Amino acid sequence: MLKKQFAMGSFILTNSRTCLKNLCPLLRHPLYHQRAPQKNKQPNNHSYCTNGERRPSAFHGTKHRDFTQRERTSFPKSVFAAGNARRTAEILKRKSGADQEKVGTGSPKGRAACIAEVPDRALSVSEWRDLKSSSSRPERFELRMMEGMLAAKADISIAKSLLNYVADEKGTLPYELLLRFLTLCVSGGHHSEVSDVYDIMKSCFKTLDTGAYSLFVKGLSQTERWREVLIILEDIKKVITPSSRNYGDAVSGAVLHGDRETAWRLYGELMDQGLMPNQETWRCLFESGVSQHANKDELLAILTYMRENQIYPEEKLVRSLKAWFESLPDENWRGKFTSVDPRGVCQSCGTELESIQLTEEEYAQLKHRVMEDVIEGRDVFNKTTPEELESFKSFVKKRPAFDVIIDGLNVANITPKCVKSQTLLAVVSELQGLNILVLGRKHMQQPSRNWNRHDMNQIKQKAHCFFTENISEDDPFLLYAALHSGNHCNFVSRDLMRDHKACLPDNATRRLFFKWQRGHQLVLSNFIPGKRIHFQRTSLYDTVVQSHGKTWHVPYDEDRGDRSTYEVPQRWLCLSNDV
Ligand SMILES: [Zn+2]
Repeated sequence: MLKKQFAMGSFILTNSRTCLKNLCPLLRHPLYHQRAPQKNKQPNNHSYCTNGERRPSAFHGTKHRDFTQRERTSFPKSVFAAGNARRTAEILKRKSGADQEKVGTGSPKGRAACIAEVPDRALSVSEWRDLKSSSSRPERFELRMMEGMLAAKADISIAKSLLNYVADEKGTLPYELLLRFLTLCVSGGHHSEVSDVYDIMKSCFKTLDTGAYSLFVKGLSQTERWREVLIILEDIKKVITPSSRNYGDAVSGAVLHGDRETAWRLYGELMDQGLMPNQETWRCLFESGVSQHANKDELLAILTYMRENQIYPEEKLVRSLKAWFESLPDENWRGKFTSVDPRGVCQSCGTELESIQLTEEEYAQLKHRVMEDVIEGRDVFNKTTPEELESFKSFVKKRPAFDVIIDGLNVANITPKCVKSQTLLAVVSELQGLNILVLGRKHMQQPSRNWNRHDMNQIKQKAHCFFTENISEDDPFLLYAALHSGNHCNFVSRDLMRDHKACLPDNATRRLFFKWQRGHQLVLSNFIPGKRIHFQRTSLYDTVVQSHGKTWHVPYDEDRGDRSTYEVPQRWLCLSNDV
């Protein structure tokens, strides 16, 4: 009988004869086996009705300067437009996170070195032996070779010849090596090899690690053995919750093999787990909808989900979405890829999109959550004392509602070339006529080279000022004053308050916060001392999936358009139903 054991990350084949026989399917048709191992008998081998929703244009009893399209000509593209932060660290972070399920091949430099070492054809056992002995780095040679093949997308016969060599030399195949080989097979779509590796590993181990399971789910779902994926999912569940990618791969297997019922059952399970489905899964489901004309409600629910979670489909998905709508029998949907003009009017059908302004209920909900979770939440007190916040609250309550709040330090630091108080004074002066609050730090009141006493006195005459302790964080103060003042109140800052977005309790509130921010944040364009100040325009319309019943508008991400998390897409799919 075959004895199995896990040891030091490799599996040791204590009975090499049997186990190498297990490997045979994997090593069939190796190009070279002149020195076939003597032990190895080598074989030959919903609709969102926004009709009643109007754009709030004026607010009673408060001054309101329209920072939207009327001043558009002088406003460059919104800071929230996709691509503005293309080269930010955030994108890099997101990208590095996206690859975590793949077996790594190290740094780009290391990867290039790995690729350079890989032979360009399958080698015989003796050729591999020679290559290894001539290598300047014989340690981890086999693993490095396999990683190099993965990075170079090398022909699978080369990888097989490597396995053949290792099996011949050691009578075992280290687990790590087999796992990398499996990665190579899955990424290259080598279905029969995936199937073989599955049989080998299943026969040698009671359980596998979740990385291997994930690879098998992905690989086998594309083969006629896709139903075994359901068993693997159950095995994964004994250890962890399967990832949305695991579910997605299983869904795609079910769809590929025409089992719509299983596909939707798996999708339902994914949603019940509270996982975020990936776009590829949605694409599979929409594509199956095109040929089957079923599950219309479930597919429309995906659009609702995108709306509620502020998700933007990528181009590939949006094309499937379009095809699905256009395929609906007895309906006459036509889709066009288009853009929206600065007033929020669809360039294709002329529909006015939903306003960026929060409705009264939305505003009340946001205010309640922010006051409760951000202002009263414990995190504020890391840097702000409760007494200071209380004194600020009473300061705000004694004054009329503010029209605009300036993040003083942040605004003053816009240009290093200029005296800070001068920059701040220029911004305050530009906003004259409005009821302004300047939030500052106590040190700004100490006359210095950067903080001119005369400038500061003028600022105090033109605006209400509140100076916090130097170490205090200003965001909670800014949020409190803005939300206390009402929906008309804008704020000036270059900061995008991402930290606070993260501490909001749920997706709905985060979405409202983001919407509020895009509608209320004034961002200074390049400031040139002595020149008139310009603010980047705020958007008039909301960038979110929306429908009037006879139309659907879906903002989507263009291919190759890197968009930071706080930016919004600029392209739309317009679907209209002309019955
Ligand atoms: Zn339209």
